[in-house]
Formats: sequence, structure tokens, C-alpha cells
Amino acid sequence: MNDVKRFDSSEGNVWKYVFDFGDAIAEAVLYKYESFNKLTVLCVSVQSGCPVGCKFCGTGNKFIRNLTSDEIVKQVHYCLHDMNIEDVNTASERFQIMFMSMGEPMLNMDALRGAIIELNTHFRNAELLVSTMMPKNPKSLHTFLGLSQYIHKIGLQFSIHEANDERRNKLIPYEPKYSLREIRDYGIIWNHTTNRPVYINYCISEDNHSDEDINRLMDLFSPRVFNITLSVICSSDETMKDAGFRNLETIKKVSDKFLENGYNVRTFNPAGQDDIGGGCGQLWYVQEWLRREGKK
Ligand code: SF4
Repeated sequence: MNDVKRFDSSEGNVWKYVFDFGDAIAEAVLYKYESFNKLTVLCVSVQSGCPVGCKFCGTGNKFIRNLTSDEIVKQVHYCLHDMNIEDVNTASERFQIMFMSMGEPMLNMDALRGAIIELNTHFRNAELLVSTMMPKNPKSLHTFLGLSQYIHKIGLQFSIHEANDERRNKLIPYEPKYSLREIRDYGIIWNHTTNRPVYINYCISEDNHSDEDINRLMDLFSPRVFNITLSVICSSDETMKDAGFRNLETIKKVSDKFLENGYNVRTFNPAGQDDIGGGCGQLWYVQEWLRREGKK
């Protein structure tokens, strides 16, 4: 590893790390909720750049290369060591490692599998959460299902963000990818196999939360299998806080509707991300690095 930079949020609860591997770059974001002993969340990258090209994402549809298992695991050890919280596995009430910072897990399953096995061995209590846009990759899905049976700490989250395939294809242009129905079907299989709920991550934007949209989502994703996570999409010209305030009322309305219909709902708290560009659409340092290296 050539170099690591750290950016601290002004609120003192979020830290972003930028890892320079020479020919590739990765980002990890560490969150402290109340205290590290209460809830520690660490989002790590699985790829450098990303080929999926989501419209709101700061990776800018630029893919450098897959990260190795070792490079994924290193992000975790480095951040914990830097904050002097290597005992977080036993000291914290909850410790979550999320594979969702940069890159699409289902497009780098071999390396991710190795990283998950190693992290589970080292941090027995850590929840290991995989968040995916669901590119079409049957081999990865099969591997992931087997791994999830064997390691009970693995969680699955689908990033959905639109209630119909036509609009979702515009927001997430990568092809081939699974349709919403196919995603639902895999979620049901995963739930029946592991006995654990599947999370639907839905970022509220201007035009994806009409009654029709919410009803369609509820028709597709049963509360017996799926929990809902609501968050905000912020475009590159606004901060998470602005996007959050803009959408606060809306998120509450959407959340109430799901709750009334028996769903388990949580709202993602983006606190502290603003001044360090920790949000998905705000990977400023990646873009800067790409420009500097002449890759953009
Ligand atoms: S949001 Fe995630 S999957 Fe989409 S382009 Fe960005 S890193 Fe890739």
C-alpha cells in the first residue's frame, strides 16, 4: 500500500480513509454512533472504481480493477488500528462491516468470499453486510448463497431505488442485471435458506415515491421476507444534509406507509458525511485521483 489519507468529519463521528494501492484506489468510511462501544459501522470498497455506473454515484462510471481479498481486509484492519479500536469485536454492542463503499460485490465474489471468511474468523461478532444492485451473475449468487448458509453473520441488502424496471434501468444502466421480480425471487430463496430477513435499500428521490410506486414495491416485496431501509439520494451538487432536509417529510410519509403495512423500516442516518464526502454520490477524492492519473 503506497499511502493512506484520512478525512475527519467536523462532528467527530465519521472518518473517511482513502487507500492508494499504486495502480488503484479504495475508500472506506468509519462511523461511530454515540460511541464505538455502542455501534461501530465500517463501509469498505470491494472494487476500485465501479463498472455499474449508477447515475447518482461519484465513481463516475469508471472501473479501475477488482480489489483482492487482502486489499478488502486491509481496509478494515487499518481503520480499526488507526482509531485504536482493534477490540471493537468484543467491546462494541454492535459492529457492522458493510461491503458497499465503492464497487459491486456480485462482480468480485471470489475476492469478497475470501475476505468475508477471513473477517469472520478474526471478528466473530461482526455483522457482514453485502449490498448489491444485482448485476446478472448466477455463479456469484450461488457462491453467496452457500457462504451465507455457512456464515450466519452475513446479511443481504438489495439497492433498489426505483419501483419499476424501466426507471431502474435508467438510474442503474449496467447490463445485464436482474429485474425486480428476479431480485425478489432470489431474496425469497436466500431468506428461506438462511432464515434471515433481506433488506431493501430505497433512496427517496423527487419522483420515485408516488402511491403507485409504494404499492408496487409492497406487491413485490413481502414484509415476511423483506425489511426496508430508506435513505436519500444526493446529487453531486448538493450535500447529504440538504438532500436529507429536502426529503425528510417525504421519508417520514413513505416510512409510515410501510410501517402501517407491517414492514420493519429503518432510515439511514447520513450524519457527518458532508464535509468529508462520505456519501455514495460524493466520492470526490476518487474523481480527483482519476483525473490526476489521467484515467478520466
Ligand atoms: S452506487 Fe455502488 S454499484 Fe452504483 S456505481 Fe456507485 S459504487 Fe457502483
